Amino acid sequence: MQRFKNVLFFAVAYFAADVALNKFAFADGWTIIWPLNGITIALLVMRPRAAWLAVMIGVESGTFFGECVAGGFSPGVELLQRGCSAVEVLVSASLLPPFKTLEGWLRSPRIFQRFALALVAGPVISGMMAAPLFHAAFGQDYLLAFDGWATADALGIASTLPLALTLREPSMQALFGRNCLPRTLGVLAVVFTGAVLMFALDRCPITFLLYPLLLLVDSSLGFAGSAIAIPAVCLISVYCATHGLGPFGRWPADLPVPRNLALQVYFGFHVLALFPASLLFMERRRMAEELRETNARLTVLAASDGLTGLANRRTFDERYREEWERAQRLRLPLSLLMLDIDEFKRFNDLHGHVAGDRCLRAVANVLLDAVKRPEDIAARYGGEEFAVLLPNTDAAGARGVAEEVRGAVMALGIAHPGNGAQRVTVSVGVSTRVPLPSEPSAMLVQLADTALYNAKCHGRNRVEVLINPETALAIAEDFTVTGRNRVRRMLAGH
Ligand code: GH3
Ligand code: MG
Ligand code: MG
Repeated sequence: MQRFKNVLFFAVAYFAADVALNKFAFADGWTIIWPLNGITIALLVMRPRAAWLAVMIGVESGTFFGECVAGGFSPGVELLQRGCSAVEVLVSASLLPPFKTLEGWLRSPRIFQRFALALVAGPVISGMMAAPLFHAAFGQDYLLAFDGWATADALGIASTLPLALTLREPSMQALFGRNCLPRTLGVLAVVFTGAVLMFALDRCPITFLLYPLLLLVDSSLGFAGSAIAIPAVCLISVYCATHGLGPFGRWPADLPVPRNLALQVYFGFHVLALFPASLLFMERRRMAEELRETNARLTVLAASDGLTGLANRRTFDERYREEWERAQRLRLPLSLLMLDIDEFKRFNDLHGHVAGDRCLRAVANVLLDAVKRPEDIAARYGGEEFAVLLPNTDAAGARGVAEEVRGAVMALGIAHPGNGAQRVTVSVGVSTRVPLPSEPSAMLVQLADTALYNAKCHGRNRVEVLINPETALAIAEDFTVTGRNRVRRMLAGH
């Protein structure tokens, strides 16, 4: 039933198109370009071969009635013409790769050669069949009959096949999206104006400008832009030629090459020459896009820690310096949390390094959940130590985040028989400073580190806060000799 509907749809559409082309458009201009076969070939290559028969029945029956009604052909002659036409589109469509997406189609192996062959082979074979038919039926010269059939069809295929294939492509729709529309209309306006001047001006032979104009369209609007420009410019040239305008309209009748053939060769050459350039432009755009994506990926990779996905040490150091200087300039509080997983060496010993890595990822996820403001940064500082930088956050706020993280890690409930709480816990050292003008940026890290040491000394799984070096030196008195010396060395000068 669906297939029957398709046949009927194509039959009606082609009947209407054929009648319209015969009746309303530029009469004998259609012997220069016959646009329908290019569309038929597009319909075929967009479908699996099993569906070709239905398309062909619809297309050829619709055209048959159209040509009988509007073209004035007798049914017998028209039937033979339809046979020739069917051979043409089937030969050309078979030579082309199947069409799924424009990009995939244009990247098929040897697409340019196949496109050029399809342009020539279908029309030439069917032209050789049609010429004797026209000779027998209307007494036409063989060569003229061949030219009227084959070259007009070839030019039609060259002009309308790309447009029919591109019509529903995202790249075509993008041209008319809000962002691109002004550029699309601007470029097309330049080309159409150029085409009118080229083909309508008698005394100014500037037809050599067509190729640069087509290159302009393709380089700025891509294949979809060319797919619009080519048939439009072709129609402008055919209109001018058939209305006695411009170099082709005033073509001397006594030249050995007739006007129609000259225009067909001129235009066909341009379409063929544009195709490889279009492929190169597309390839260049694709490579630029790939390069952009790769660079973006590399930037992310270079900035993040491979195991946890958190910011890595390099990123942390950069952001830390920036935030310290900003806080110093604006006299704002800057807070830092240093976290260390408790008894992690034992965790690895008991569960193995794979489980250890899993645990590190779980703790990292807790940190990601805990940092909420866009300017906050959670980083893997080294091994099983993490750092959280909280710009414009005071000590109370930082302690709140630290407690939240500590509680959330406990709540993960990752078993750890070697740790006091019997599950994985973290100790957190917190420091907050409104940096003084000449204060070294290492101060905040040293305080947080001392606070963390203090948390470890006081039984782990706890949060300790330190906001000035004097307090740090005072509490260090309770540390072991090594710990005390470490703090003294760190804070030397305070
Ligand atoms: P403490 O409670 O005092 O922090 O004890 P701890 O055992 O955690 O001591 P420390 O912080 O010195 O332990 C560091 C250990 O963390 C060493 C190593 O076994 C483990 N570690 C460091 N980096 C990684 C890693 O990338 N993967 C795994 N699985 N383990 C790591
Ligand atoms: Mg450690
Ligand atoms: Mg540890």
